[in-house]
Amino acid sequence: MVKTTSFQHYLDQLLERFASLQGGAVANYIPELSTVEPDGFGIALVTVDGHVYQAGDSRTAFTIQSISKAFVYGMALEDRGVETVAARMDVEPSGEAFNSISLEPGTGRPRNPMINAGAIVATSLVKGEAAEDRLERILDGLERYTGRRLGINEAVYRSERDTGHRNRAIAHLLRNYDILQGDPESPLDAYFRQCAIEVTARDLALMGAALANDGVNPITAVRALPSPLVPRVLSVMATCGMYDWSGNWIFEVGMPAKSGVGGGIVAVLPGQFGLAVYSPRLDPKGNSLRGIAVCRAMSRDFGMHMLRVSRTTTHSVIRATYTAAEVHSNLLRDERSTRHLRAEGHRALVIELTGELMFVSAEIVSSTVAAAMKDRDWLVLDLTRVTAIDQPGGSLLTALLEELQGHGKGVVVAGSDRHFAFRQAVRTRFHGQERPPRLDDTDMDRALEFVEDRILESAGLPVQDFHAERLEDQPLCRGLDPSELALLAELLTPRKFQAGERVCREGDSADRVYFLKKGRVSASLRLDSKHDHRLGAYAAGWVFGESAFFEGHRRTADIVADTAVELLALDPEALARHPDAAARGLRCRLLANLAELNFERLGRANSEIRVLTR
Ligand code: GLU
Repeated sequence: MVKTTSFQHYLDQLLERFASLQGGAVANYIPELSTVEPDGFGIALVTVDGHVYQAGDSRTAFTIQSISKAFVYGMALEDRGVETVAARMDVEPSGEAFNSISLEPGTGRPRNPMINAGAIVATSLVKGEAAEDRLERILDGLERYTGRRLGINEAVYRSERDTGHRNRAIAHLLRNYDILQGDPESPLDAYFRQCAIEVTARDLALMGAALANDGVNPITAVRALPSPLVPRVLSVMATCGMYDWSGNWIFEVGMPAKSGVGGGIVAVLPGQFGLAVYSPRLDPKGNSLRGIAVCRAMSRDFGMHMLRVSRTTTHSVIRATYTAAEVHSNLLRDERSTRHLRAEGHRALVIELTGELMFVSAEIVSSTVAAAMKDRDWLVLDLTRVTAIDQPGGSLLTALLEELQGHGKGVVVAGSDRHFAFRQAVRTRFHGQERPPRLDDTDMDRALEFVEDRILESAGLPVQDFHAERLEDQPLCRGLDPSELALLAELLTPRKFQAGERVCREGDSADRVYFLKKGRVSASLRLDSKHDHRLGAYAAGWVFGESAFFEGHRRTADIVADTAVELLALDPEALARHPDAAARGLRCRLLANLAELNFERLGRANSEIRVLTR
């Protein structure tokens, strides 16, 4: 394992370590290739976050050669579809040299798109009639990967055109089998030009990073290849990308890769990065000698083999499980509703998830939920702490939602806004159906409040339209005698707010205590211009703004009306200054009630903490 704090330092050392590796030879079967500087050596790595690391000659231009085959194969798939392309070439490793005449007996289909025969066919399949049109399509396609227009090394192109008799023979043989149609010289010419396109190690690493990043260039955010085609291209790179050393390569290095006789290698660790090495000294199979050494060292040092199970997902992603009887939403409700929820809240199960939902972790969720939902009507699934849902995990979860719906259970999913693909999949699956899972709640608290409302409604209790008409219904007024109630009523001023209106703002001086007569308000912290965090909410029958009982306080949160709201505002100073002797008693009683209510809330918070940490 590596012992270095900086990856850049590691790359520099790698370059130094393998620069002394002599041996191997620059390709010379294309005469012009033999003129390159044999000791050029560069490494580049681009992460899926778009971070670029470079060492040595990472900006030296060289011809892409066979590396183009992987990318042009992707373009052929995109332009003609997987089936049409499959009819013209197989995806089976040939175990033979890149320039072998390895065609399927009978059909004449090339064994795979990474040998020359398959590559010439792939070039013939990209959109375009004339050789120039195809080349233009290829340059456009590569530009999406590199973010810059690539040029052609004319001397190398001419040199191969004039001496590439074997490729010419292959093209004509393919024409004989009708695998190539029309004049075979046209795709052949486009192929020669495509091989002479100049790239740098940095370009190649970025191209690899786009494949690692599901087809999207991580620096420009341009899509280079449709997502479903990415695994197709990576598959042939993994099985056939390194000439007739492909089996050994995947065994030792473990990353889909492609090399070219120009001295380049691009390797891809899906989901992580693209890595490229340039060093034109080739081994007898045609792979860059130092390129292999660098990739092998890095794969070993960091344990980067793609088939290495770097993390298991068998640990539980279930953070907490409780019912709506054990933990309430942050909405403080009137006493009767609270009592009812304590008695009937077991009908709703809440599951808070955390981490990554992949197949196995989603399976745990699915079996836990299925077992626990028997006597319940509602499931609240909290995804707000889920960092990722992959496709198999998402499919399993969607199937679970469908099963629950089939049994007549209601489902609310909180935090699905962070998981776009999953949300879309659920929407599509439940399109046009009655009672689809509710996906709109961005925060868990509101999702729970929604389910509590349904539980109360099903018992015929008033929910949104609940009124605390009489002062004695307010918990703060417990134990007040009629004369105290009358005195209090005298001191209260009615106020009304529309839904969405702000009642008080963080930082305002706290000068009124509010009795909530009708509607709901939320206390929230403004995090930035778009986001706030709901600290708590109050339903009719509650009092808020109690800090005004004590001098010199400022509001510590915004209070916003969630619905149309009717309030009764008390000026505590007016109460304190009131000449009537009974006012003192009233004030004491209100403060004592306030202390008691706060103790009750504390007790409730403690029992909720117990549930959440069990
Ligand atoms: N243009 C070269 C050829 O067809 C590419 C060979 C390679 O890079 O493997 O011979």
